[in-house]
Amino acid sequence: MTEERPAEPLELRSIRSYHAHIYWSTAEQRAVALRVREQIAARFSVQLGRVHDVAVGPHPIAMYQVAFSIEVFAGLTPWLMLNRGGLSVLVHPNTGHARDDHERNPLWLGAPLALLTESLPNEPGTDGISDVVANTSPTLPAA
Ligand code: ZN
Repeated sequence: MTEERPAEPLELRSIRSYHAHIYWSTAEQRAVALRVREQIAARFSVQLGRVHDVAVGPHPIAMYQVAFSIEVFAGLTPWLMLNRGGLSVLVHPNTGHARDDHERNPLWLGAPLALLTESLPNEPGTDGISDVVANTSPTLPAA
């Protein structure tokens, strides 16, 4: 695979939002993941996705998605560093280029997983990502 480098750096403003994907493969890890999910909801204004107990899309094992705005990144990302409970977590930007977002430009916390990115589109605007609509009501400080 040839790594094509852009002549100019990509602009930060190309990032419209972020996703965190929290993965598990055992019943014990699932319980940890659901506890982390509740802790996130109590502390951060994010859009929690459904719990997927089977692999979906490019994700090779069970997971749920947390969609969040660029303003939330600086709090949630280090919180996940400290509190992911040993689980693998993928944090990726949403720039409209779905394959690059997952394959070239992600941040992994814990052990990275091999994503199934071949089928992801990479043309601008084909990622189907819409604006973050927070569905949590945090009552605790993100401390
Ligand atoms: Zn995602």
